[in-house]
Formats: sequence, structure tokens, C-alpha cells
Amino acid sequence: MKVTNHIKKAKGKTLFSFEIIPPQKGRSIQELYNNIDPLMEFNPPFIDVTTSREQYIYIDKGDGLLDRKITRMRPGTVGICAAIKHKYNVDTVPHVLCGGFTKEETEYLLVDCHYLGIDNVMALRGDAMSHQKYFEPSKGGNHYATDLVAQIQNLNCGKYLHDVVESDHKSDFCIGVAGYPEKHMEAPSLQADLRRLKEKVNAGADYVVTQMFFDNEKYFEFVEKAKEAGINVPIIPGIKPLAVKRHLQILPQVFKIDLPETLVNEVEKCKDNKQVRQVGVEWAIKQSEELKKAGVPVLHYYSMGKSDNIKAIASKLF
Ligand code: FAD
Repeated sequence: MKVTNHIKKAKGKTLFSFEIIPPQKGRSIQELYNNIDPLMEFNPPFIDVTTSREQYIYIDKGDGLLDRKITRMRPGTVGICAAIKHKYNVDTVPHVLCGGFTKEETEYLLVDCHYLGIDNVMALRGDAMSHQKYFEPSKGGNHYATDLVAQIQNLNCGKYLHDVVESDHKSDFCIGVAGYPEKHMEAPSLQADLRRLKEKVNAGADYVVTQMFFDNEKYFEFVEKAKEAGINVPIIPGIKPLAVKRHLQILPQVFKIDLPETLVNEVEKCKDNKQVRQVGVEWAIKQSEELKKAGVPVLHYYSMGKSDNIKAIASKLF
């Protein structure tokens, strides 16, 4: 079922969902199941599965030279979506990226999703590769998430690339896109970023999931401004519980977000990461309670492959 239909069916009740990361290649899918199992009692209507960018690795050739190869360390997003969907009878949302894919490869991936009965996809540009300063689109690939949304929307209208087939069978994907309460790092202003978000919605996006934030006011203001900009699709808040002291540096650096002073002080007082994890859980519970009271459609958690803290939060709320 589509994410938007799950929201409609809930009739104002806040739903629980979460995002998982595929295991590194060579690792077992059982690790993933072990982290999903404890969260199923909270009845997530859908689970997101991320896609990671490809990266360069350097192989020692033994003659003092290095061979540069490109690889994807966490492949398998669509396969994992299909496996989880059938194992748990839950909807899954594969993240589909512009970066690293030609439009043809994207079309094949979407066709696979359609055959597998996957009803939702999250359309994202992707970040720059680790060695790049700025994002560069792949040759023959989509540049911005808007272009990817348009490609998916074309498929929903039975329009395949290059018009090589006469289609009598349309896909009907529900399309999610990303939103940034503290603006995307490359956007010149929040208003400019909101105009880009509106373009994604105009191109066919059905709902928005936000980047993590730690101050609910940022989310409430974002939703208000998005409405003023004519964005009328559901805006699902993304919540990440802080888990290690290093997050105080990493999260602002990587995601260009602010951490509230009270939270920073609480974390700095912690003697070890076990205490930090507890502070992170308590902060996320407070955030979630307020958001739930405000009637958000879904509370969507970034699990980063570990479920104990998400379970601790969900058991207070769902
Ligand atoms: P876009 O919407 O394309 O925007 C990117 C930037 O370009 C913005 O600054 C925007 O304002 C600007 N822009 C948009 N259109 C135009 C235009 N026509 N001209 C000029 N500027 C424009 N990354 C992954 O690699 N894998 C994942 O699985 C993944 N999942 C995510 C899930 C969520 C909920 C979120 C919030 C992010 C996720 N990301 C993921 C990160 C995401 O890929 C990055 O934040 C990326 O830098 C931007 O992606 P986007 O889809 O928001 O890009």
C-alpha cells in the first residue's frame, strides 16, 4: 500500500516507521532481521531501506602501484526491500538515487520494484562521492531529485525512456522526497530550498520526509513555511537519537544542522557512550511526544542499523 494511503487510513493517528541501512557486502541479512524483529511489535506500516553511493577503493598491485576500482559497499536495496516485504508483510520503501545511476539503470530498477509489488520509492539526489567536493551527476543520469521524480512520474503514466515500448501497463509508485528544516547545505537560503521542494512536489512527489533535527521548533516553522509556499503533501519528521559523544561534531559537520545548547550540555556531562545513548533516547522521546501531540502523520526514525534505542523510544510512544 502507498505511504499516503497508510496515512489516510490512520485517520489522524501518528504512525511509527523507521529506516535501515543494507549490511556491508559479505555480511548476512540475518543481522538486519535481528534489528528489525524487536521493532515489529510497534506495527510500522512501512520501512525505508537506504542506498549508498559507490566509492573508489585502492588495491595494492604489489609493484608499488595502486589500482583504483569503483565499488558499492552496501548493495542490495531492492532485494532487501523484497525480502523484508515478504518476511514481515510490511511495505518497504527503497531509496533511489540520481548519483551513480544512468536513467536506463534507474528505469530497470523501477521496473524490478514494480514486478516485486513495491508501491513506494524515495527519490533522492544523493550526496557527492567521498572524494568529491560537490555532487556530480553521472553521465546519462538524473541531476536533481526533481528530474528523478519526473522520470518515476513518467513511468506512472506508462512512459518509458526513449519511447521504445508501447506500454499498456503503468506503474503507480507513491513518491517520497527529502526536505530540510534547516535547509539543504548547498541551498543559498531556506526560501530558495523550499522553492526547490515545491518543484519536486509539482513534478509528482506525494510526501516529504525531513532530515533529522533536534529542535522541534525548526520542524514546526518548516511545515508552516512549506504550507505558505503551497506545499500541501504530508511532511514526515525524521528523528535520530544521538548515540555517541562524537555525534556532537559529526552531525553538524555532515548534515549542517544545529544541536540545541541544552542537549549539548547534557551530552558533555556524560562519562561514557552508554550514558550518551540514554540522553539521546530521552531527548528523542521528548521530541517525539511533542510531535505526536501536534498530530504529525508519522514519526520516522533513523535507526542506523541498531534497534535497541529505537525500541526504547517506541515503547514509550506506540
Ligand atoms: P535535491 O532535491 O536535488 O536538492 C539538492 C540541492 O540542489 C538543494 O540544495 C536544492 O536546493 C538544490 N536544487 C534542487 N533543484 C535545483 C535546480 N534545478 N537548480 C539548482 N539547484 C537545485 N543519501 C543517500 O546517498 N542515500 C540515501 O538513502 C539517502 N536517504 C535520505 C533520506 C532522507 C529522508 C534525507 C533527508 C536524505 C537522504 N539522503 C540519502 C541524503 C541526500 O541524498 C542528500 O541530502 C543530498 O545532498 C540531497 O538530496 P535531495 O534529494 O534532497 O536533492
